[in-house]
Amino acid sequence: MKLILLGPPGAGKGTQASMLVNKYNVPQISTGDILRVAVKEKTSMGIKAKEFMDRGALVPDEVVVGIIEERISKEDCNPGFILDGFPRNIAQADALSNMLEKRNEAIDKVISISVDDEELVVRLTGRRTCKDCGKGYHVTFKLPKVSDACDVCGNELMQRDDDRESTVKDRLVVYKEQTQPLIDYYSKKNMLKSIKGEGGIQHIFDQICKIIEEV
Ligand code: AMP
Repeated sequence: MKLILLGPPGAGKGTQASMLVNKYNVPQISTGDILRVAVKEKTSMGIKAKEFMDRGALVPDEVVVGIIEERISKEDCNPGFILDGFPRNIAQADALSNMLEKRNEAIDKVISISVDDEELVVRLTGRRTCKDCGKGYHVTFKLPKVSDACDVCGNELMQRDDDRESTVKDRLVVYKEQTQPLIDYYSKKNMLKSIKGEGGIQHIFDQICKIIEEV
C-alpha cells in the first residue's frame, strides 16, 4: 500500500496517517516531522530549513525530495508507506513518480482531504504540542487535564512557531498556490479520491479505510 494524503495544513493528515499506521502496519512519512527533528537537532539541513519553515514557505524541493528518496529506500517501506505532507508541488510529484518508477513501484492512491479555510485557521492556531514527548492538544477541542501540562509526561505545552495566525495565513496561501494544483494533477491520472475532513476523526478514518480497501 503506497498512499498519499493530500490536503491543506490542519486537514488532519497527520492524525489520520498515524491511525492508518496502526491498522495497516506501514510507516507514516511526514516531511514536516522529519524537518522539525532536523531543526531541533540543529543539523545543517535543519538550520537551512528553519528559515523557510518559520515563514510558512516550502523548503527547497531538492531537500525534501532527498529526504523522501532516502526514507523510502529503508526496509520498513517494503510493504508500503503513507506520505503525509509530500509531495507539495508538481515538481515534487514528478520527482516522486520518477524515483518510484526506477524501483518499479508506483503510488496506489491519493486521498485528498478538504476543509474550509476558517476551520483550518481555528484548528491550526489552537494546536499545542508537548515540548518533550510531542503529544498533541488543542485549546478548544482537546484540552489537557491540567492547564498547559502534558497528560502523559507533565511537561510544558508549546505552540509551533508556524501555527501562529500570521504564518498560518501564509501557509494557506502557499497551499492554494503550490499544493492545490496536485488535486488536478492526480485526478487526471485517475489516482485521486476526495473526502471532506469533517464529521469527526473516526468518521474520516472510516471513509479513508473504505477507499484503501476498494479494488
Ligand atoms: P507540515 O508539518 O507538513 O505542515 O510542514 C511544516 C513545514 O515544513 C511546511 O510549512 C514547510 O515549510 C516544510 N515542509 C514540510 N513538507 C514539505 C514539503 N514536502 N516541501 C517543502 N516544504 C515542506
